[in-house]
Amino acid sequence: MFEIVLGTANPGKVNEIVKLWSDLPVRFITKEQMEPWPDIVESGDTYLENALIKARALVEFSSKPVLADDSGIEIDALDGAPGVKSARFAGSGATDASNNLRMAHLLLDVPEGSRTARYRCVAVLVKPDGTCLDAEGVCEGSIALVPEGEGGFGYDPWFVPAGQDKTFGQLSAEFKDSISHRGEALRRLAEKLKSTDFLT
Ligand code: IMP
Repeated sequence: MFEIVLGTANPGKVNEIVKLWSDLPVRFITKEQMEPWPDIVESGDTYLENALIKARALVEFSSKPVLADDSGIEIDALDGAPGVKSARFAGSGATDASNNLRMAHLLLDVPEGSRTARYRCVAVLVKPDGTCLDAEGVCEGSIALVPEGEGGFGYDPWFVPAGQDKTFGQLSAEFKDSISHRGEALRRLAEKLKSTDFLT
């Protein structure tokens, strides 16, 4: 088993990533198993930059390979916002509830057909020698008129994936994993991993 530090403090992401890579010969070290955890400022302008900032900071801290992702939601009626700033949409100290409230407020007058959006995720795996692999996943959809469901995390009660009439908050975790941005990014990263000697 290869030990990999899981570079996220978000429990919603941890659950998804651990399940998505459950068939790989890796053992994840999570934040709880590694306290103290370094403070990391996500100062990048792109998902890839932010994912690498997180991963490299944790590689330096732990001297182990690190899997990290950066993700966000891009809303067409808001010119692609909040994008890389999704976690902090409502400002510093934002929560899922305050981010969702801000989004709902900004979309109040936007009609059903104009609420298209997508989730995007970039996942990276970085080794202590500096080598890295990366992969991206996208999940198209739209923002519902009202939030529904308790599942998932973040913007999920508002996000209706394309071709569905329910939000990720209502759909099962298994279904979300099968079509989500994070699912796609991690499956692609796993394929790259299997076709290289990265973990040897
Ligand atoms: P970060 O990748 O940790 O910087 O944060 C990404 C932010 O984007 C999360 O805090 C959520 O607000 C949002 N986000 C990313 N992926 C998802 C998802 O799968 N469901 C709901 N919200 C998400």
